[in-house]
Amino acid sequence: MRFFQTPAVFSWLFPRIWWHRKTAEKVLYLTFDDGPIPDVTEFVLNQLALYQAKATFFCVGENLERNPAIAEMVYHAGHTLANHTHKHVQAWKTPVNDYLLEVERCQSALNKVQPTANSSMLFRPPHGQLTLAHLKRLQEKYQVVMWSHLTYDFDQTLPPEKCWDKLKGKLRPGAILVMHDSLKAERNLRFVLPRLLQHAVSLGYSFKAL
Ligand SMILES: [Zn+2]
Repeated sequence: MRFFQTPAVFSWLFPRIWWHRKTAEKVLYLTFDDGPIPDVTEFVLNQLALYQAKATFFCVGENLERNPAIAEMVYHAGHTLANHTHKHVQAWKTPVNDYLLEVERCQSALNKVQPTANSSMLFRPPHGQLTLAHLKRLQEKYQVVMWSHLTYDFDQTLPPEKCWDKLKGKLRPGAILVMHDSLKAERNLRFVLPRLLQHAVSLGYSFKAL
């Protein structure tokens, strides 16, 4: 079962987490998880530049260390770099203290590219997994960001046309949309992102970083 739209009850249960941003303006918040990597992240940057769109990249620390030049490109293009743990660890399998070390390690890699003074400390848990104990500790220091729409671009059994079809009628002011700059998502990403940008701009939307 795929949940493209996040049920409203989550934002009621966890109001401090960002599920969407409250605004009447036609603004969308695109987020890209799991990069930065060669080619795919660069494809995303090129597409965003065509529309002066800004986005938020939830980076894996290991990828930041492997691909510092791409991370610099993301930062210098005016996007926000944010934290997605160092090795993409799962909260349900990782004790809280170990998890926090993973998050800190990613943050150190991020801080080498993006001065923290210029950004709030945004964090998204890999696989959207958290426990109340993890959340409590994270919220002492980080703004936890989830999403209002998950594209499932990473699901290679989901045809690109369907991935786009599930998204295009769901654009709302302040929505936080999740895509992935990863090899798994590449096929759907290359199909959906250009269509999303063109369609949303034609409806009067702009794209901002969180
Ligand atoms: Zn991820």
